[in-house]
Amino acid sequence: MFSNIYNGGNVPRSSKYTLTVTTTPMGGGTVSRFSLIKHRVRKFGAACSAIACQRGGINDPRFKRVPANIIFNNMKIIVAQTAGFCMGVKRAVDRALELSDDKSGPTWTLGPLIHNKQTTDMLRQRGVSALDENSPPNAPATLLIRAHGVPPDVMERYKSAGYDIADGTCPKVKAVHNVIERYRRDGYSIVITGDEGHAEVIGLLGYAGDSGYLIQKPDDVDGLPPLGKICLVSQTTFGTELFDLIAARLRERFAGSVIAVKKTICSATDERQEEAKRIAQSVDAVIVVGGKNSANTQRLVQIARECGTHTQAVETEDEIDWEPLRGCKTVGVTAGASTPNWMIKRVCDHLLLLSRTKGKNSMGAFMRLFDIMANLNLFVSSGAVAAYYASCAIQGVKFSIAGGVIALFYFISVYLWNSLTSIENTLHLDISKYRFYNKYPKLLLLLSGASTLAVLVTAFLINRSTFYLMLFAAAAGSAYHITLVPKGLRGLFPYKSMKDIPTSRDLFVALAWATILTFLPQTIGGAAKIVPSTLAAFAVVFILSFIRSLIFDLRDIEGDRIMGRETLITIIGETRARKALLIMIWACVGLLAISPAVMGLTAYRYAGTLRYLFQIPALVYAAVFVRLNAGIRPNHSALFCLLADAIFYLAALGALAAEILVKR
Ligand code: SF4
Repeated sequence: MFSNIYNGGNVPRSSKYTLTVTTTPMGGGTVSRFSLIKHRVRKFGAACSAIACQRGGINDPRFKRVPANIIFNNMKIIVAQTAGFCMGVKRAVDRALELSDDKSGPTWTLGPLIHNKQTTDMLRQRGVSALDENSPPNAPATLLIRAHGVPPDVMERYKSAGYDIADGTCPKVKAVHNVIERYRRDGYSIVITGDEGHAEVIGLLGYAGDSGYLIQKPDDVDGLPPLGKICLVSQTTFGTELFDLIAARLRERFAGSVIAVKKTICSATDERQEEAKRIAQSVDAVIVVGGKNSANTQRLVQIARECGTHTQAVETEDEIDWEPLRGCKTVGVTAGASTPNWMIKRVCDHLLLLSRTKGKNSMGAFMRLFDIMANLNLFVSSGAVAAYYASCAIQGVKFSIAGGVIALFYFISVYLWNSLTSIENTLHLDISKYRFYNKYPKLLLLLSGASTLAVLVTAFLINRSTFYLMLFAAAAGSAYHITLVPKGLRGLFPYKSMKDIPTSRDLFVALAWATILTFLPQTIGGAAKIVPSTLAAFAVVFILSFIRSLIFDLRDIEGDRIMGRETLITIIGETRARKALLIMIWACVGLLAISPAVMGLTAYRYAGTLRYLFQIPALVYAAVFVRLNAGIRPNHSALFCLLADAIFYLAALGALAAEILVKR
């Protein structure tokens, strides 16, 4: 059947289409029109068995035959760089989390901090709620000013009522306040473009006082009274084009007056909308994540739909309607300014999960298996085996398979146990893992116990010292989450378990890795002794595992903040932590590079120094990884785990290469 479909609006229903393009060029806008038609065809559940490029017909060299199941298997998710919190909202939410960590009392905001139910629910649980002005709290508490800002008299009123004011006003909004104050002092009338009743506009009008006038469209200029000197400013989220039209009309009407036009529009909104448009034009479907009552989220939905791309607006991953996405090759994900990154990540993770579980094909099954391996911590556990190999090589001890098995099962059991006991932490970080652990808690507990048993039995069969080492390691690994300090003693020691000690996780984890993987080769060999190569192996394993922990902390910073967990990264902040981590890595590279000179070739044989030098690639890889993943939202948790754990695989490869060279 031949159909002439130009806009995709009247695609007849059928189970199968061959979608090609006529040899007549379709002119401007062809790509988006083609994508619109393609989408309409798919909407009816039909497979597009052939897709042609726009200029030629069936003979065009770029003509591609794309079987529907391949498209389905290879669903690619493009996440907008601008998706999620803008700087001002992020700053206000971070401030709210900081205040909630400081347990001195509740924190109130004037109106919801952001238009996102999941985030406001989470903040409410942590003691940050919107103030009901009709029944304010008896005891004055902390009042957090939202990113929109408030009029100065409101700020003063709460200050004199005894509230502790935490100013979360966005610096860009604050800059508009400053402009208004300066020009008002100089005798200017302040004309503000913005939406009537918007919290930010109320604040701006408060700063303008009697000199302020609010207008929303060019025609409103005619309604202004005669004015002398005029300063035109804008609500930060106002439309640029509309502002320019209003400015032109103002200049026209007040031609003889001094007019200072201050285009105080924040670029964040424009950039987000531009990117949403670009993405919508190049993908098969768009998912916009954000609150139903968030105006900027709804605007993104509208923009994407205007591009003719199938668009879904979701608040959480559970609202994704899979059927229309079936067969989509590329899905774009963007989000409003009040959507947290953890929710964007959850939506992406869930999309990938759906694309694997809903399709009965080998690639989907393989990717699902990949996820299960990550959820069972198999990548990090095999990384431990690799680090064990490197440790053996650095110490000049023969690698034993039994030792590798012990390392593998020990780390499986400990990571499983710790994941099970802190599963609520992954709710904001890794939805696939969260669901997996909630689905099979008993089975995973059993697996963890069986792994510990396997470790202890194997160690016992080797010798006593290996058994005692692993018994101690198993006890220490399980004790991390257990309450150790009774209530009565908390006055002396304020932390109830080891995990509550600030920054404990990274240090304890690295210490555990280094201790076990350094001494395991020695106990298996029969005697534990501390010689310089023991210290070198300890240092290498400690540094590699510490770097790995920090890499995960960088990924999890938002979730850790939400859970109130104090890691090194949450304490010193992401930017500084990233820099510190890079400095640490390069310092280690430097130390390894000069190790032959420092240690002296006479004290250490050539083979020894080569083993240290060959650990440098693992560190360089870590530096590149830390550098490249800055600002990138990982939307594939399993792949992230594999890439992060590759540090250990490279350490083992380095050790292997050194061994081969030494033996030559
Ligand atoms: S949109 Fe711009 S001005 Fe408004 S809060 Fe975000 S960063 Fe600040």
